[in-house]
Amino acid sequence: MLYVVATPIGNREDFSPRAVRVLSEADLIVAEDTRHSGRLLSSLGVARPMRSLHEHNEAAVVDDLVAALEGGASVALVSDAGTPLVSDPGFLLVRACAEAGIRVVPVPGPSAVVAALSVSGLPVSRFAFEGFLPRTPARRRELLAILRDASHTLVFYEAPHRLVASLEDLVAVFGAERPAALARELTKVHETVLRGTLQHLLERVRGDAEQRLGEMVLVVAGAPERDSGEAASLQVDEVLCVLLDFLPVKEAAAAAARLTGERKNILYQRALALRAK
Ligand code: SAM
Repeated sequence: MLYVVATPIGNREDFSPRAVRVLSEADLIVAEDTRHSGRLLSSLGVARPMRSLHEHNEAAVVDDLVAALEGGASVALVSDAGTPLVSDPGFLLVRACAEAGIRVVPVPGPSAVVAALSVSGLPVSRFAFEGFLPRTPARRRELLAILRDASHTLVFYEAPHRLVASLEDLVAVFGAERPAALARELTKVHETVLRGTLQHLLERVRGDAEQRLGEMVLVVAGAPERDSGEAASLQVDEVLCVLLDFLPVKEAAAAAARLTGERKNILYQRALALRAK
């Protein structure tokens, strides 16, 4: 069996008794960083053979691990912190095990995504975890533009040195007033949760270097749901705006009427208003 074992994201008391037992009974513990996990495990009195699995060697070691599992070994997978596979290695191994018919057993526990959502003060009934935002500003803004109208809560992992740039892009693309939360150093000594609009968070982290330190999760509220009339009129506006780039008002209104089924004289008035803007 392959056990996928969650470990603490800071506070060692979050290690579940089941996780400790599974790790102490495993024939092999597969860890992202064997030195880091070795120290954590020895502090719990767990001493089992270890092997490393990280993003650079995962593809190469998967076959070996599958062979060991097929031979009857019990293997436990951990990452440096939190739940393996969540912005961490392990996907190739779990997929290979599933394909080989090996049982994969979760040993659930901490993950920064869920911990941050639980204290964000934002709706959690629907959310999407987006991992780390792209590093380059152009790609970051491109992705944010795609996410801008999503109505569910969005969760991002963020690196301290990119926090200000990412918040600036979020303000630019999502608008200054979108509610958000920045959860930092969760379960650790300097745990902080900032809540407010994106603009408020940007000002707080710009003005206080401490708010840019450590490990952090950004949670951003979804876009307000539009009623169907509002959505339809926005679509009509988008069509008209494109057409107005190429056609005079009257022709743009006629073409938009063909495309949307809306009445020509209403679109003509709307096109006049948009052109005036
Ligand atoms: N697998 C982990 C999990 O389940 O949360 C995440 C691993 S990912 C490589 C590391 C990122 O998770 C950090 O850069 C940060 O965004 C977030 N993170 C991890 N621990 C955290 C903590 N204690 N407080 C806030 N964010 C944390």
